[in-house]
Amino acid sequence: MTSQEIRQKFLDYFKSKDHLIVPSAPIVLKDDPTLMFSNSGMTQFKDFFLGYKTPTAPRIADTQKCLRVSGKHNDLDDVGRDTYHHTMFEMLGNWSFGDYFKKDAIAFAWELLTEVFGVPKENLYVTIFEGDASENLERDQDAYDFWKSHISEDRIINGNKKDNFWEMGESGPCGPCSEIHIDLRTPEEKAKVSGLDLVNNDHPQVVEVWNLVFMEFNRKADKSLEKLPAQHVDTGMGFERLCMALQGKSSNYDTDVFTPLIAKVEELSGKKYTGILEDEKDIAIRVVVDHIRAVSFAIADGQLPSNGGAGYVIRRILRRAISYSYRFLGMKEPFLFELVAVLKDQMGPFFPELEKQGKLVTEVIKSEEDSFLKTIENGLIRVEKLIEQTIADGSKVLPSEEVFELYDTYGFPDDLTRIIAEEKGLTIDEAGFKVEMEKQKLRSKADSAQKVYDWVTLETKPENFVGYDQIESETYIT
Ligand code: ATP
Ligand code: MG
Ligand code: MG
Ligand code: MG
Repeated sequence: MTSQEIRQKFLDYFKSKDHLIVPSAPIVLKDDPTLMFSNSGMTQFKDFFLGYKTPTAPRIADTQKCLRVSGKHNDLDDVGRDTYHHTMFEMLGNWSFGDYFKKDAIAFAWELLTEVFGVPKENLYVTIFEGDASENLERDQDAYDFWKSHISEDRIINGNKKDNFWEMGESGPCGPCSEIHIDLRTPEEKAKVSGLDLVNNDHPQVVEVWNLVFMEFNRKADKSLEKLPAQHVDTGMGFERLCMALQGKSSNYDTDVFTPLIAKVEELSGKKYTGILEDEKDIAIRVVVDHIRAVSFAIADGQLPSNGGAGYVIRRILRRAISYSYRFLGMKEPFLFELVAVLKDQMGPFFPELEKQGKLVTEVIKSEEDSFLKTIENGLIRVEKLIEQTIADGSKVLPSEEVFELYDTYGFPDDLTRIIAEEKGLTIDEAGFKVEMEKQKLRSKADSAQKVYDWVTLETKPENFVGYDQIESETYIT
């Protein structure tokens, strides 16, 4: 089954269960003070849960473009290093707004996975919320009882608040959740360790695929929980992970969501993708094909790279891709912009914004590549000078202030400085550099004090915003 067919099958199934199929909301949020990007399918329906708006239909399903690079849900560090976390990914979802609840949500998910998609039942595990005394939250016995009619009890696992109580952000709708995990290991691997032990333990072949959230609460700005006016269902299934499972692959990057992009990178760089987890070239290729999607969709949705806010996040993601390909793929000339046509061919039929904005996306990426590659070249000259000076001073350690200045003022990635220094038998003053970074973090925190919206009082309150400075310190090659 191709990824296009998988997406369509999901939507058709929920249509047959009386769900209204709606388009994805833009990936960039323009009017939400608590979030920069859609980080899950429910983002566009937040006001329905909170009772501020009347739902357009009691049952809805869609695929939502998501971006998890800042704030509460930030997966950037894992991207490229593992095979199943992306910056931008599609979240397939179905919703009930005060209509069906746990019983039907569980029955739909089970029927779709095992009967429509034919996932073998013996490959599935589910988790339920074990409760949390500190917040007076009970174990989700209802979910347990409903699951019992589909799956044997030894495959229903208790999960803690971190994994089984879903929250959109620091505030907003939330509730206990029940997740479905697929065990894709070979029979030989399965014989070694019980799959039960691997659920939610970062095993690349035992992956969480679908989260069923039972929305019952609102987390207020003061962190307390209040009951929502009604009970809702909010589910999210990772599209690329589902494709991996249904296409019999062991990595999202081996599905047809990514293989055309990887083939183009191979063609342009002359480097072969071998799918090895620790291999720097393979990490770089995964980073590139992941990031080009995030950046292209963000630009197509109207977010140009810039020096502030969401635009800054997008610029940093793009620069991260450029840095990786410069270092590990030897790409010294712009080439990422050439991937846009491949992405457009593949995703354009479902996401017309890519077709419509393809030319703009290509031009913007090309011009960002041009200017950042120049920054890298200029930075290289400065690094060489700094190295000469350090050697002339009789030292073997590059001073932290200068390394930081290169990074902060000239936008030159510190990792590149480190590598070049090492090639000349020098090191950088790591402790001092860390101190400089901390100082800058504090400065940017003070600068970017953002406002947080209190859903109850309907007031906007200033509060230190975690997403922006988090991304700022993490986006360069880490
Ligand atoms: P994980 O534990 O693997 O990080 P999660 O619990 O953070 O996932 P949810 O918030 O429950 O994820 O999102 C619903 C679904 O979206 C997940 O079950 C998963 O299939 C998918 N998903 C989440 N994060 C990513 C990501 N970064 N890239 C691709 N798919 C993702
Ligand atoms: Mg996660
Ligand atoms: Mg999880
Ligand atoms: Mg989850």
